[in-house]
Amino acid sequence: MEGLKKDVIRHVVSSLGSDYASKSAYNYYNALALAVRDRLIDNWIKTQRSYYDEKAKRVYYLSLEYLPGKSLMNNLHCLGIYETARKAMSDLGFSLEDLAEQEWDAGLGNGGLGRLASCFLDSMATLGIPGYGYGIRYDYGIFHQVIEDGKQVEQADNWMRVGNPWAYERGQHLFPVRFFGEVKNWTDEYGRLRHTWTAGDTVLAMPCDMLVPGWDNHHVINMRLWSARSDVEFDLDFFNTGNYLGAVEEKIFDEKISKVLYPSDQIEEGRELRLKQQYFFVTATIQDILRRFRKKHQDMTELPQSVAIQLNDTHPAIAIAELMRILLDEDLLDWEVAWDICVSTFAYTNHTILPEALETWPVSLLERMLPRHMQIIYEINARFLREVERVARSEDCGQLCHRDLDHLKQRVSLIQERPIKSVRMAHLAIIGSHSVNGVAALHTELLKARVFDDFQRLYPQKINNKTNGVTPRRWLWSANQPLSRLIASHIGTGFVRNLDELTQLEPLAADPAFREAWRAAKLENKQRLQAYIKRKLMRELHTEHLFDVHIKRIHEYKRQVLNLLHVVTAYNRLRHGQAADFTPRTVFFGGKAAPSYFMAKRIIHAINAVAATVNADSRVNDKLQVVYLPNYCVSQAERVIPATELSEQISTAGMEASGTGNMKFALNGALTIGTWDGATIEMAQAIGPELLFIFGMREDELVSLRQHGYNPMLYYHGDEELREALDMLRSDAFSPGQHGLFAPLVDNLLHGGDRFFVLADYRQYLGAQQDVGRLYLDQEEWTRRSILNAARMGFFSSDRAISQYAREIWDVAPMAGLQNGKGA
Ligand SMILES: *Cc1c(COP(=O)(O)O)cnc(C)c1O
Repeated sequence: MEGLKKDVIRHVVSSLGSDYASKSAYNYYNALALAVRDRLIDNWIKTQRSYYDEKAKRVYYLSLEYLPGKSLMNNLHCLGIYETARKAMSDLGFSLEDLAEQEWDAGLGNGGLGRLASCFLDSMATLGIPGYGYGIRYDYGIFHQVIEDGKQVEQADNWMRVGNPWAYERGQHLFPVRFFGEVKNWTDEYGRLRHTWTAGDTVLAMPCDMLVPGWDNHHVINMRLWSARSDVEFDLDFFNTGNYLGAVEEKIFDEKISKVLYPSDQIEEGRELRLKQQYFFVTATIQDILRRFRKKHQDMTELPQSVAIQLNDTHPAIAIAELMRILLDEDLLDWEVAWDICVSTFAYTNHTILPEALETWPVSLLERMLPRHMQIIYEINARFLREVERVARSEDCGQLCHRDLDHLKQRVSLIQERPIKSVRMAHLAIIGSHSVNGVAALHTELLKARVFDDFQRLYPQKINNKTNGVTPRRWLWSANQPLSRLIASHIGTGFVRNLDELTQLEPLAADPAFREAWRAAKLENKQRLQAYIKRKLMRELHTEHLFDVHIKRIHEYKRQVLNLLHVVTAYNRLRHGQAADFTPRTVFFGGKAAPSYFMAKRIIHAINAVAATVNADSRVNDKLQVVYLPNYCVSQAERVIPATELSEQISTAGMEASGTGNMKFALNGALTIGTWDGATIEMAQAIGPELLFIFGMREDELVSLRQHGYNPMLYYHGDEELREALDMLRSDAFSPGQHGLFAPLVDNLLHGGDRFFVLADYRQYLGAQQDVGRLYLDQEEWTRRSILNAARMGFFSSDRAISQYAREIWDVAPMAGLQNGKGA
């Protein structure tokens, strides 16, 4: 402890240039972070050396988004110095919790996809897998959300101002990135046509490294984020030509590439700058991968034995064309050889089947910005379509022969003609990869049977499932110390590394003393949330209420509106005195809406309007409260999830690819109310469906409902409570003086076709909520179920997911000495 204290004080003085006697929390947080980083960097250097020494195959995880959240507490726990740090800082006059508040919540992603990438890095580090995360160091991460007059207002996430003590900026290792320009053709000595991409604009990519430690194993991996730097130099010439300011402007223009994260989740906006971001990060990453590979290899055909590249969604799919370009134009390999290398190296994870989220880029834009890549994509497509034709005409191809070949080719082509001629990035990712995985069993089945059915017939081995997981380090141990300590006092701490060990809790579910201790841990978490809400929102929570929580991105398919209709109905029953047996509850909502997503923003407004009405109504507000938590982010999730008793996972069946929020809640002892969707299905199977509150129509039922003509009006006319709730929303019951404010929401349901089947599931949802309320009155049974939920969540560790990727997709093994837990 004395060592850590000394290091902190030294950093306050020599790294931060401040007087250690002036007790600034900001300085002491930064100094502590720097002292922790010192401990990580030694292990990182050793880890990197061991990869070279053992000629380890490396995994590169390419993701346009990461959602790490705060690092201090997690890193202290992983290094095993949490208690030491707590005492050291207390000696210096600080509470560790207060210092941790100083940290910027790193929000370089929108939601689940980015958070998955961060959980995966944590698991690679803990399992000892030689891995790297690659992405973009945005100057502005996901916006900061404030609620003003019930509406979302976006504020810039200006974290550059507070700085990041965890990052190493490596300004000496810059990689050039080319845009625009032209393709020159030439003939090589064997008379073969060759291509060179020349001219155009160049910007530079600067690496910025953030270290990711494994749990108690001395294995530290790296998340390398690229920041755009101009290659414009300020020299005397500019003064002489009088264009100094012009040069400065050009510099600012170049550096715009990594300026801001696109804030839409599950919606593609198709902006030119977004494509620039994608190629910028992909080419810098591929150059870095090949630089490392070439240190020990000359023969490019050995690449797939040394390197596996995982594409997190299609956002980095241009990497396939980029690696082809390098192999063809720089290494001068033949097409077939280059293509085999690519397909064996790449693997692609699909995250969505929502059509509005599938990425396409206009051919005209690609031809201008990346002319050589567009040529390569055309060539990939021509060869692929010839192959499709060959397979389709072959005799033993089953169903394919009977199909209309032209239609098949149109469906699978990399190019779509309408509405404008564009490249389908998912198709590029599928044919350029040896593995295509979905992220939960149902999702993968839908990929095979509906979205990519043609590809499933062409390549029956390619599509596979890897159900998502979450890291127990952050989402149980670090976020929920009261519960973790209770668990550890009965079964030891092995569950943090091997989450299956939680099954040892099962017999304890029958033990009344253990149940009481389990409830006490939950109550402690609820009280901490209460204190936090009091401080931040100046609201008093009732900790004896059932805490019912719906936090995730705001999206119509996630159906916050269904939850809101339950709240309005409960309000009406209470007002009308029809709810004598109502179980008191507080309903929490939280989540950001894409700034361009009108309906999602209006949903936020409606939730806040209903909350204001309900909370102000003294007839009901001791029994029903509604809280909107502004600025949902990772550190907020870490506070709220441990305090949650009911987890809302109520997406339209078939539309939530997996979900990971669902897993975090159950792991922390919340019961789930949810639809038969995503990984919630597998959770129900692992836990026992009778221990969750499952309701609503299933995916296949919705398909047939749609086929037979879904008429939401039937539900409106057939259900009095539903009609009352919708009419109130449509009138000004919750928007006094602003008649019709929420009419777009209601009209969307009644006259817009209710694409997400909110009305179809309303009545069953109310029934399930009634069951929840009734069970909550029996605290012994509720607690028993809560324990069993957590005890059966072992499968949903990201360690299990990453082990499957490593074995079944990447063909990499953990580093020697790290397989069985602790490292050297
Ligand atoms: C886990 C997590 C998500 C994903 O939640 P879902 O409920 O699976 O959509 C999104 N945002 C944050 C901050 C998270 O921690």
